Amino acid sequence: MFCYQCEQTAGGTGCTKVGVCGKNEDIASLQDTLIIALKGIAAYAYHARELGAHDEEVDAFLAEGLFTTLTNVNFDLGSHIDLLLKAGEVNLKAMEMLSKAHSSRFGLPTPTRVKVGTEEGSGIVVTGHDMLDLYELLVQSEGTGVKVYTHGEMLPAHGYPELRKFKHLAGNYGTAWQNQRREFEEFSGAILGTTNCVLTPKESYRDRMFTCGIARLPGVRHIEGRDFRPVIEKALSLPPLPDDVKATTTTGFHHQAVLGLAEKIVGAVKDGKIRHFFLVGGCDGQKPGRSYYTEFVQRLPKDCVVLTLGCGKYRFNYLDLGDIDGIPRLIDMGQCNDAYSAIQVAVALAQAFNCGVNDLPLTLVLSWFEQKAVSILLTLLHLGIKNIRIGPSLPAFFTTNVLKTLQDNYSIQPLTTPEADIEAILG
Ligand code: SF4
Repeated sequence: MFCYQCEQTAGGTGCTKVGVCGKNEDIASLQDTLIIALKGIAAYAYHARELGAHDEEVDAFLAEGLFTTLTNVNFDLGSHIDLLLKAGEVNLKAMEMLSKAHSSRFGLPTPTRVKVGTEEGSGIVVTGHDMLDLYELLVQSEGTGVKVYTHGEMLPAHGYPELRKFKHLAGNYGTAWQNQRREFEEFSGAILGTTNCVLTPKESYRDRMFTCGIARLPGVRHIEGRDFRPVIEKALSLPPLPDDVKATTTTGFHHQAVLGLAEKIVGAVKDGKIRHFFLVGGCDGQKPGRSYYTEFVQRLPKDCVVLTLGCGKYRFNYLDLGDIDGIPRLIDMGQCNDAYSAIQVAVALAQAFNCGVNDLPLTLVLSWFEQKAVSILLTLLHLGIKNIRIGPSLPAFFTTNVLKTLQDNYSIQPLTTPEADIEAILG
């Protein structure tokens, strides 16, 4: 962070006034974390607002949080930590607001089997996070012969009754955001990017790509006012996609659906059939170390259940983990904002077992990449959840002191190897 008083990088080698201007590297680190988290909260608040929901407390905190990062306004380390925990609390509210806005507009998600791959005919693939954009595209493309596919974090759309009622919502294509350039080149239809985690296109498909809403890309046509006619016309003008359905996957485990299994789950735990729950999820990314998550899930004993969310799930959601007495061993709860649903499940299980969330046989193994993941981490800290394992590497904007504070108070742990971590957790 640049310090306007020192006119140097705060706390860096050129900073001569540490302790005078107060902008030491720990405060700079906490302010960076806050700004990153505010971006994540803003994304959820934006989506909720598009669906007609807003919350005065969330909006007020976005202003307050940014204001506290101004030059020479707050030099107090303790209050910065309080602000981060408050950001976590406000993010929980934003995720709840978005969860409710989604289900009141599109119905409560239920577990749904989804085809992976394409069917013969004209097609549009939609990436990003915006369910309202997808809904409007489905309305406008109905009856045209064009099929619509979800990509990346749009996969959970198939769980919502008001979205899957469209027969031409044909399936899921591709995997997580970092594979777009290869996957979109191979997808010969039209492409729509709705939000963040959209990559600058290759020339080979730039002319069949479109953006809408908050997303913009150089040389790519932007759709205004959710009028998707140019996208549909483009899809119809392109050669048909091949008939290439490769597999199926299941999504749509809203917390209400999981809690419908609560009695079975509690019984299976008490009978020793389920030993441990893992929440393995978050953002995916390019680093080779992210193969950790695939290996971690593959190595888990058969009496463990995996909850997942975010695009990190593509590392292992093609695996057939089977079930335990009818309880699926892989439970896809949805987008990263559906961390709200995962929290509701954890709280309900803690009530059922008459213990705290930290006493449950539950471990969080998170993958972080962008801003929303940081806001979710702060939510988990606000809720007092401990022993979170985080990777593939620790956020570079945490200083040694900030990291030590997190480790001392919340026992946050970096990933080691799947084998060693499973051994340490399960014993
Ligand atoms: S989970 Fe994170 S990295 Fe993945 S698409 Fe969503 S915001 Fe982007």
